[in-house]
Amino acid sequence: MGRELGLEAAAAAMRSAQRIGVAGHVGPDGDALGSMLAIAHAARAAGKEAWASFGEPFVLPALFDFLDTTPLVSPRDLPDDLDLFVVVDTGVPERLGSLLPKARSARRVLVIDHHPITGDFGDVALVDPLAAATTQLVFSLIEALQWKVDKTVAVALYTGLVTDTGRFQYSSTSPATHRIAAALLAAGVEPDLIGRRLYEEAPFAYYTVISRVMGRAVLDAEHRLVWSVLTQDDLDAAGIAYEETDSLIDLVRIAEESAVCCLLKEMESGVIKGSLRSRGEVDVAAIAAELGGGGHHNAAGFTFHGTAEDAIEAVRALLS
Ligand code: 5GP
Ligand code: MN
Repeated sequence: MGRELGLEAAAAAMRSAQRIGVAGHVGPDGDALGSMLAIAHAARAAGKEAWASFGEPFVLPALFDFLDTTPLVSPRDLPDDLDLFVVVDTGVPERLGSLLPKARSARRVLVIDHHPITGDFGDVALVDPLAAATTQLVFSLIEALQWKVDKTVAVALYTGLVTDTGRFQYSSTSPATHRIAAALLAAGVEPDLIGRRLYEEAPFAYYTVISRVMGRAVLDAEHRLVWSVLTQDDLDAAGIAYEETDSLIDLVRIAEESAVCCLLKEMESGVIKGSLRSRGEVDVAAIAAELGGGGHHNAAGFTFHGTAEDAIEAVRALLS
């Protein structure tokens, strides 16, 4: 049996469930966190039992400390007898990490995602690769359910919109994105406060991380590739957590000579997390997919088992 698709099917799945768990992908970004918290808050306000969570490492970046995380529970505290398990901002079961068994034990799974290749995971799916953010889809869902978008929900939804559109500047930004942003401001979002926390503040120690990573950047003119590495030693020297380094790539990628940017981050486990960004010409989702990862045309990622040198060689070979 195929899965049910679309807004109406997704709304029906939400309506008929009483115990709802919402999970984003491992290492959640603003869109994954915003989506899971918005759904959990709105569902609670509508009289449901709802929880949000994400797979280990269960670490919330300090950057997002303005979000109301009341419904957030650790992966082990998420009930495993859920009526509905909602997966947000990914459609790939493996991206749930340690939460995958709880998705398997739930009665139904609803996937809400805006990635182009998302597979056929779930019983119901609300998927639109043209949506600028998953929270854009979540807004439509909450609207279809006629649930309330209060300030708490609006802040969560706006966080996904502003981060996944690079502050409303990526090509995915549409009139619908701005219409939804307008509704969220009307519901009480203070864009200056969120913008300051997300983009204009960091601990002074972060300068150490920036200077090391930028100082190490290499421009590979042949492949029009700019790349760098973040080491565990950089993080240790600065006392900065891995989870606080999501925006580093936005600095590395500004070289105007580059078409593609790659940042390789050494994780504590010794594994390397690769982030790829494109200016539009090159499809980095395809490159990431070749390396076992995924993402969007202009922003994608993968996990690599090996050295940073081997990882960048693999990226170069795929660019050739
Ligand atoms: P980032 O480089 O910021 O971690 O991720 C960029 C984009 O690629 C996001 O849309 C993210 O969900 C996706 N992505 C990153 N890593 C992976 C991965 O390992 N697998 C898949 N399927 N997508 C990834
Ligand atoms: Mn997203």
